[in-house]
Amino acid sequence: EGVVSAEASDDERVIESALRPRTLDELIGQNRVRDQLGLVLEAAMSRGKPPDHVLLSGPPGLGKTTLAMIIANELATPLRITSGPAIQHAGDLAAILSSLSEGEVLFLDEIHRMSRPAEEMLYMAMEDFRVDVVVGKGPGATAIPLEIPPFTLVGATTRSGLLPGPLRDRFGFTAHLDYYETSELQQIVHRSAKLLDVPVTDDGAHEIGARSRGTARIANRLLRRVRDFAQVRSDGIVREDTARAALALFEVDELGLDRLDRAVLDALCKRFGGGPVGLGTLAVAVGEERETVEEVAEPFLVRCGYLQRTPRGRMATPAAWKHLGLAVPVDAAY
Ligand code: ADP
Repeated sequence: EGVVSAEASDDERVIESALRPRTLDELIGQNRVRDQLGLVLEAAMSRGKPPDHVLLSGPPGLGKTTLAMIIANELATPLRITSGPAIQHAGDLAAILSSLSEGEVLFLDEIHRMSRPAEEMLYMAMEDFRVDVVVGKGPGATAIPLEIPPFTLVGATTRSGLLPGPLRDRFGFTAHLDYYETSELQQIVHRSAKLLDVPVTDDGAHEIGARSRGTARIANRLLRRVRDFAQVRSDGIVREDTARAALALFEVDELGLDRLDRAVLDALCKRFGGGPVGLGTLAVAVGEERETVEEVAEPFLVRCGYLQRTPRGRMATPAAWKHLGLAVPVDAAY
């Protein structure tokens, strides 16, 4: 995975946990979510009952896991962590649910990737704090109802649209996380730098924030790469020019585009005259798998307003030509 991937690698999870804000007050940005969630939690605590189930939706790296941990921390309850892909059989879920303690927070990441039978078991658990455990097979199978202690489910998904309606309806509160502004990412870089004991200037933090694609995880990762550069090639202080030189080395440009993103734009404009061109053809031209182009490069290019997905194929926008320093061709198909 590249340096601007929004997904965390396994090694990275360890360092990430050291950088996570622990309370709502420590959270940077996401002000609306913080205010709403703060109210929901405070009200539940004053009633002495677990709060409603919470759904967190938004792209990877914006703070869903962090928020789940904050919720448990603010409620002073234990936290259990699992994920949709880890729950393939309803029995896996029954085992988790029946071992929860009263008021515990269950974090279910990638909830849209759970199996159907597990999903149906979850409906009942969320609503009635009860599951039916099926014992035996075939005509002799019997369902044994099992009470589970009241708990709070915190579900996370990158695509709330993929969630079946009945599941979505069982969440009392849904928080949509938005991409961060550069100024917020700058603050996140400052905060992380302090925890990592790295001196960073305001300009340096701004430069890293501006190239982080609106994503907290990427800001933290770029900071670590710039720190490496500052230590080895400079005086250890993260300044604007250090950040620029380091990120040039790692091929992350002023907008956060990496080598693959630029290769896609380049091929689209220079080889295919701005398109429209099919995804498969474009992928071959940059020597990548279709899926990599579609899922890794395109979403950010679309967000930047450089690429359009049309029924006839991929097209470069006038802004894409400008980004490459090229004139928009007069015969472009706009
Ligand atoms: P997600 O679960 O949405 O993929 P995470 O919660 O794992 O994202 O966050 C990724 C990294 O970004 C973590 O290291 C976390 O410390 C940092 N982070 C996320 N949101 C914030 C925030 N609002 N303020 C500071 N750091 C954040």
